[in-house]
Formats: sequence, structure tokens, C-alpha cells
Amino acid sequence: RKLTVSLDHCTYPIYIGAGLLSQLPVYLDEVGIVPDRKLMVISDTQVAPLYGERILASLKQQGYQVDMAVVPAGESSKNLQQFEYLIGECLRFGLDRQSVILALGGGVVGDLAGFVAAAYMRGIPFVQIPTTLLAHDSSVGGKVGVNHALGKNVIGAFHQPAMVLYDVDTLKTLPTRELISGFAEVIKHGLIWDADFVQWLEKNSAELLALRPEKMIEAIYRGCEVKVAIVSQDERESGLRAILNYGHTIGHALEAVSGYIHYTHGEAIAIGMVGAARLSAKVLGTDESVVRKTKELLEAFQLPTQYDGERFPEDRLLLAMKRDKKVRNDEYAFVLTRKIGQVEVVRGIAEEEIRAALQE
Ligand code: NAD
Ligand code: ZN
Repeated sequence: RKLTVSLDHCTYPIYIGAGLLSQLPVYLDEVGIVPDRKLMVISDTQVAPLYGERILASLKQQGYQVDMAVVPAGESSKNLQQFEYLIGECLRFGLDRQSVILALGGGVVGDLAGFVAAAYMRGIPFVQIPTTLLAHDSSVGGKVGVNHALGKNVIGAFHQPAMVLYDVDTLKTLPTRELISGFAEVIKHGLIWDADFVQWLEKNSAELLALRPEKMIEAIYRGCEVKVAIVSQDERESGLRAILNYGHTIGHALEAVSGYIHYTHGEAIAIGMVGAARLSAKVLGTDESVVRKTKELLEAFQLPTQYDGERFPEDRLLLAMKRDKKVRNDEYAFVLTRKIGQVEVVRGIAEEEIRAALQE
């Protein structure tokens, strides 16, 4: 299936299907990336042995000059050291301004390789080849970057890919916990924008967890569709794009307080979305059924909906939220829900209300 992203300055396709990787040269050709252009595959130590070697061989066979650079798997590679290493690899292989970077992996590789592409010779094209479910979110929209010791994603750029090629077959090797974590973002896309999609997810949870290809393609297609709709209205996050942070205010705080190891990102935002729904009931008078439905849907995908309050006291969570850039004079801003499929940014939420929502 194909989706097209149309922005003011560029247009690019997102292909979602099974068995697409074996057709990579055909898809590259379709966006004008022909064998006279040098390619650099960037991947990580987990993904490279699974899919990298295969891709390299098939591209070479088609006459591409192509090399691969590999970074250690995991979030800790999303830093300036790896960035510098990769720039060095690009120089060593002789990439020029016509060359193309292929980001093969999850969100870490996508963000890092995308940032290399944004900076190398002031910007060269890159292709996203996501291999995690979460990456249906990160590979679309053009936000790329790395972490600094003092903050996540604080060094970055907007750099749109030339294409996104999503082969759902790669998800078969993904660890179950990573897969489930990815569903949290899929569900988020439904909850903020598309009530029909939420209903569809409720009905198909078992088949999705079993990775039925046609269902996975549909889920990723519809999740990307939401992201594309939002990004094309607000590429640079001046307004609307903020709603993609639904569940992330509490989620990020929980990740920070738990040292980024206890919860995966998806687990943290699952808990965050339930918290945001409860807060919506208090602040906006949203129907309690929204809280219940949100919980049930997340539970159907085996995601947590409540954090360990003994271990992570709410005082520490609030402190972490305060460090969030959205807080001004003790006033918190949250993405809240009116009903399933509709959210908005609400400012000036008092600390007591958040406390009450967290305590429930
Ligand atoms: P990840 O890239 O670290 O992948 C998770 C783990 O799975 C890694 O160990 C990886 O090696 C492994 N893996 C990946 N694909 C595999 C496969 N097919 N088979 C087996 N193992 C595989 O993490 P992620 O969850 O994909 O992405 C998280 C990152 O995405 C974070 O850094 C986050 O900031 C970023 N992100 C970016 C955006 C954006 O808009 N740019 C949006 C959301 C998240
Ligand atoms: Zn997220």
C-alpha cells in the first residue's frame, strides 16, 4: 500500500507491504535513486546481520556502489560520538552530494542516520527502512537528531526522507516487548484522530498481536495516515503537531524517573495516555467511558495502564514534568481528550488536578 506525504517543499512516498525488502532496487528506482549514485546503509548490530547483508548483496547485484556502517544497538548510540563516526564513514566511502543514505533499523537508527544525512555536506537525501513497529511513527515526519547527556533529542534537524519503505516481514524478528511497545504509538494515533481506527484496533487486537501480515499492513497504514495528516498541516511543530505528544507528558516523566530502563517508551506512554484521559475527565468533563475504553484497548494489547506508585512516587513524577519545556509558572500544559479521536492542548492545569489524576 502506498501513502504520499505532500509538504510545501517536497513530496515523498511511504510504501507498506510484505516482502518489500527484496524489491528494494525497484523502489529506489521509482524515486530516481539509480545505480550511478553511491549508497551508504546505516544500521545497528542487531539489525545488520538480519537484513543488512541481504540488502547489500541485492544492491551490489544491481550495480550500486554501496557500503554499510553499523552502530551498537540501543538508544545509547543516538549521540554525537556515533554521529561523528558515521560522518567519517561517509567521507571514507567517498559519498558526495548526489549520494543517498539508507537508514535500516528502528527509531534509533532512523533518527541518527537521518541526522547524518541532514548534516553531511549540508544535507543529502536519505531513505527510511523501518524495522520496528514504533518506527512507523519515527520514520515519517522528518524529525531527526541525537541525544545530549543533558537531554533527549536536543540536537537535531528537520530533514524529510526521500522515501519510507516499510516491510512488515521484518517485524517477525522483533522482540515481543518491542512489538507491544510499538502498538502504544499505533493506538495513540487512533485515540487522537480516528475513532473508526480505534474500533478497528479493538476488533483486531488478537490478529495484530499474532502479526497477521494483512492486518499489520492495515494498522501501520492507518497509523501513518494520521501522522501524515498532522505533519502535513504543521511540519515544524508550531501548533497542531503537539497533539502527537498525547500521553507523553506523563510518559516522558515516567521514563526519566525510572532511569529509562524500567519501562519501554511505549509502556510509559500507555500509562501516560490513561493518566491523560483521567485528567481530561477532571479538567474537561470528558465522559468516564473514554478512560475505560482507553484502558481496555491498551490492555487488549498487553500494555500496562498503571505505574508502580510505590516505586515512583508522584512527587518525583511532577518534578520531572516541571522540567518539561511546556511548563510555565507552575502551570502545566497537557494534550487532553474530549472524546475518542479528538484531543486538544490545554494550558494552565493546576498541580492538584494532575496529582488527583495520578493517584486514581
Ligand atoms: P530501536 O531503534 O532501539 O529498536 C529497538 C531494538 O530492537 C534495538 O535493539 C534494535 O536493534 C532492535 N531491532 C530493530 N529492528 C529489529 C528487527 N526487525 N528484528 C530484531 N530486532 C530489531 O528503538 P525504537 O523503539 O524503534 O525507536 C526508539 C527511538 O525512536 C527513540 O530514540 C525515539 O526518540 C525515537 N523516536 C523518534 C521519533 C521521530 O519523530 N523522529 C518519533 C518517535 C520516536
Ligand atoms: Zn512516542
